[in-house]
Amino acid sequence: MKFLIARLNHETNTFSPVTTPLQAFSPDYDAAAFLANKDMRTAMAAFIDAAQRVGAQCVTPVSATANPSGPVLADAYDALTDRIVAAAVGCDAILLDLHGAMVAQNTPDGEGDLLARVRAAAPGVPLGVALDLHGNITQKMIDNADVMVGFKTYPHVDMYETGEHAARLVLQMLQHGRRYAVRWRPLPLLSHTLRSTTLGGAMAAAVASARQAEDDGVPAMTIFAGFSLADIAAPCVSVVATVERTPGSEALCAAALDRVAGRIWSEREGYVYASEPLSEAFARAQGMAQGAEKPVLLLDHSDNCMSGGTCDTMDVLQAAWQHGLTDIATGPLSDPDAVVQLIAAGVGAQVSVRLGNKVPLTRLGITKEPVLVQGTVRAISDGSYTVSGPIYMGQRCSMGRAVWLDLGGTQIVVVEQPHEPWDLGVFSCVGLDPTAYRYLLLKSRMYCRPVFVPLSAGLVECDSPGVTSSDYRLFPFENLRQPVYPLGDVPTFP
Ligand SMILES: [Zn+2]
Repeated sequence: MKFLIARLNHETNTFSPVTTPLQAFSPDYDAAAFLANKDMRTAMAAFIDAAQRVGAQCVTPVSATANPSGPVLADAYDALTDRIVAAAVGCDAILLDLHGAMVAQNTPDGEGDLLARVRAAAPGVPLGVALDLHGNITQKMIDNADVMVGFKTYPHVDMYETGEHAARLVLQMLQHGRRYAVRWRPLPLLSHTLRSTTLGGAMAAAVASARQAEDDGVPAMTIFAGFSLADIAAPCVSVVATVERTPGSEALCAAALDRVAGRIWSEREGYVYASEPLSEAFARAQGMAQGAEKPVLLLDHSDNCMSGGTCDTMDVLQAAWQHGLTDIATGPLSDPDAVVQLIAAGVGAQVSVRLGNKVPLTRLGITKEPVLVQGTVRAISDGSYTVSGPIYMGQRCSMGRAVWLDLGGTQIVVVEQPHEPWDLGVFSCVGLDPTAYRYLLLKSRMYCRPVFVPLSAGLVECDSPGVTSSDYRLFPFENLRQPVYPLGDVPTFP
């Protein structure tokens, strides 16, 4: 037996000016794709384990994953998907580890088009898909898979288990002749990433209902929160079930889908995020900082590079200064030109430099001016570090070269590449201890939390104009199907 097993992951923020060429995926092919996943915690790793348990040969044409950014360049999309489609011919089962929210220059439905082509290349071959909880599901995806399972956690920790679940159902098709299909209930609901955590709130309750449905006999049920920063027809919440093609299973699953979708709709306010004005956020932060022995975390979630942000906007820092906040540590800020200038000046040099705000936010119609600052270069490093925190422990990361710039009341780490502050290494690589300051400003939503929340006296979310802003009115949606909650009233759903 031969199993096609491949991984292609991208969450596309169509409003992001950060381009997504082939190199952004660091693709591995064939044997290298196998080795990149074997014994890891990816869905593809679970596919490999399942295939090997039944003695199947693994055909692994591609393993490619890129950080969230703008639409995938057409030649990159074609190069990666062509390899997967070509490998489908002659296989006995197909297991794909995809994200579900990929937009390419040449298609708004990256996964739907890929699945349709794979199915056409290998008609009748059992096809299972593992997806991210933030997948934007389409009818084309539903129609071209037999089995679909998404993550049930955010922060995401169950990638392997999701792959295992999808593989188990595909093996039942192969070995026991079971016949599966995918059914769904799309909701006209734009959720917010900060409201898609499964640690609490409406999303956690919905996921618990999905688990209950599985316990009651639905082969698989997933709540997809969607990824709203995509100008496609429906970057929305959906409930997806894998059903057995028997009248009994179809009826059971239809009832469960209606029940869970109805619950989500009745709790739709729980998926909406209302940004607090920055002046109020800073006033709260000042209150938390009174007498605190740890820094107060300021989370700039409007410029999060793990959702397509440029990692270079200065709005929140400038507003903090205007509000009178001082004793701040912040970083990493991506500004390769400034890094070159600061390194040329050298450690100890007094410098005057134009910082940040350099990547125009063209799709939002926003261009900002760099901020002229004076300071001292405290340290220079190659910007690489080994992750010591709980997520990706032991992994080697690089931010390009890094500089610690001391502005007096603010210490800032400036780097050459956008980088999520998910580990203390982003500061310690230049010798900066971010816990020694009153405020710690991070451009992050979720990934910083496991490491930095325990080190802090409290957390304040800060919004501003950026490509990952929580204020959806900033985004000029052209393709979004209206009406959609909360941008408008939806009088007739469900
Ligand atoms: Zn996700």
